[in-house]
Order: sequence, then structure tokens, then C-alpha cells
Amino acid sequence: MIKKNNKRPSFFRNKHEWEKIKLIKKIKPLGKTTPYAWAVEPVHGCNLKCGHCSARLLEPNKYDFMTEETWRKMWEIINTVTPTCRVDLCLSGEPTLHPNLVKFLKIARELCPQTQLQITTNGTMLIKGKVDYKELLDAGANIVYTDMYSPRESFIKLAEKSDYPFYEYYNKPDNVPSPWTYYGPHIKMIVLQENPSNWPKSRHRAGLLGTWYNNLDWEAAKKFNLTPVIEPPTRRCNQPFIYVPVHFDGSYLLCCQDNMGETAGEYGSIYDGIDGFKEYWYGKRIQAIRRNLREKKRKDNPQCSRCCITFSRCDYKLWTDEEINRWWDGKEWRPLDFIKL
Ligand code: SF4
Ligand code: SF4
Repeated sequence: MIKKNNKRPSFFRNKHEWEKIKLIKKIKPLGKTTPYAWAVEPVHGCNLKCGHCSARLLEPNKYDFMTEETWRKMWEIINTVTPTCRVDLCLSGEPTLHPNLVKFLKIARELCPQTQLQITTNGTMLIKGKVDYKELLDAGANIVYTDMYSPRESFIKLAEKSDYPFYEYYNKPDNVPSPWTYYGPHIKMIVLQENPSNWPKSRHRAGLLGTWYNNLDWEAAKKFNLTPVIEPPTRRCNQPFIYVPVHFDGSYLLCCQDNMGETAGEYGSIYDGIDGFKEYWYGKRIQAIRRNLREKKRKDNPQCSRCCITFSRCDYKLWTDEEINRWWDGKEWRPLDFIKL
């Protein structure tokens, strides 16, 4: 079951809403190695230039949009390999800049009706009135997670106007659903999050800001105490075990820290179909990366050696030894020998 207990959280407005959510069971076509979530980039390029983010380095006012063909192919794969998972629209760009976002949300709902679809936005287009919460949630989004780069009062007004439930991340009522948990396609909510300039110190101390493989404007990054990673932490990382990151052109990426698309092309793309997905997810290269991460050897992975981020639960040991020490060549499993990355 999705929920740990049967008590209806007070956040759900009525019993009917809660009953629908309780009915959803997770399907894991790839067993315990089924990805937990996808991180998808509908837009590459952002209208803000935050000092803690590598999107600041991208060419100003240039946006690359995911095409409808790529979007459709991706959702067909999601529906086959992870029909009940979270899909976050995020990565290196502002998703609400996509001119067809509402249409895309409707397509996603048709092609993959059980996913939990989240938009992570900087809120600028909401403030300008170019999109609104109700429109996005009605079209198929489940959660609009808003990093508030404008006054919180403005977002509270917009959220109230939508008539959908919302809460502020750092002032949340008891027992509210987490945006990082899969509840299914019936949940609808808005989460208002502080932007990193206003984060509590504990969040910074937890290492939740990374250096995006050392792609930052270091002068601007100083304000966030970010400096180039020379010696990475001897910590595990759970990202390549649980997330499937997709660049705007459909390429799989190593992880959500690849804002610049540095690893695009190394793992194939959604255009390689279901077989291609398996060759990527269990491929020789990514398995070698996972094994190094499991052994806390970030330094031996080209990208991880430039990464200091430590997500919560990053040290969990995921997958079994057997699941790590093999790779899929498209026809059969092979033992994973040492490879230099
Ligand atoms: S953190 Fe978000 S809003 Fe800021 S530049 Fe990066 S993608 Fe844009
Ligand atoms: S340690 Fe490696 S896989 Fe994990 S977030 Fe950093 S670069 Fe990505």
C-alpha cells in the first residue's frame, strides 16, 4: 500500500478524496530495481540567474524546448517500466516557460494515467499571470512545487485562488503529504518552498546545494558558500539508483546535477525504446558508477568527483551485490569487471 497507515491525514478535504488515494498500489515491472522517480527537463534554459545554479551559465533568453514527439515517446516508456512513479518536471530550466505545457500535461495523463506528476517552478510565470495553479492542476499536474522567488504573500493569494489545497514547506500542518512520496494520480496540491537565499541554516548544513559538476559562476556562488569541489565527500549517493533524468532532447543523463547536459549521449535516449531503456539502466557504465558510489568512491567517477551534494538518505545501500555486479548487454547479463571511467 502507498500509505503507512489508514488514518486519513487532515490535509485531505474529505473522505472520498482519501479513499481514492488509498486504492493505488505501486507496480514494479523491474522488481526492486525499478526506478523510483523521473526528473524530466521540458525546458533547457531559465528566466532567472540564481547564484547557486548552473543554469546561470546558459545563454540568456535562449530556451530549448522538449518536442511533442520526445514527450510522447518518453511517456510510453514511463508507462511500461514505471507506471506508478513520481515524475518531476525540473532540471536545468523553468518548466512553465514551455509554450505547450498544458497540452503536454494532458498528453501525459492519457499515456500514463497512474503517475504522480510534479512541476517544480520558480513561480515567475505564475506571478506574471501567464499560467495559473488551477490550469496546471486541472490539466494533469498533481503537485506544483513552487520555489518562491517573489514575496510569499503573492503565492499564498494565487494558491488560495486556485481552490486546491496548499501548504508552506516550513510552516506545514501536521500529517500533510510529502511531495517526495508517491500517493498516485489523485493527489492535488501546491507546496510553497523558500528559495535557497531564505533556507534555514539546517538545510544548507545538510548539503542540499551542490556545485553541478563544478559548473557555477563562482563569484555569485560565494553568497551560498559554494566553492569548487576538489576532494569529493566519501559518501554514497542514491541518485543513479532511484532517478531517471531526461534531458530536453530525450537523452538520459547521469543524475539531476547534470544541468549542462554534460552526460547527454553517454547513456542513450528515450528514442532507443524499451530495450534501450534497459541497456541504459543496467548498462556497463552506469553499473560501474553505481558500484563506485556504493563503495563511497565518488572520486573514481568523472562527474561525482566534482560533486558535494548529499541528499537525505544518500548513504543508504541500495540494490544487492548481485544486482550491482552485473550489467545487461542487450541480450544477457554479464559480470561487471573493473572498468576505468
Ligand atoms: S535555481 Fe531554478 S530558478 Fe534559479 S536559475 Fe536554476 S533553474 Fe532557474
Ligand atoms: S554523487 Fe554523482 S550521481 Fe550523485 S548527485 Fe553527485 S554527480 Fe550525481
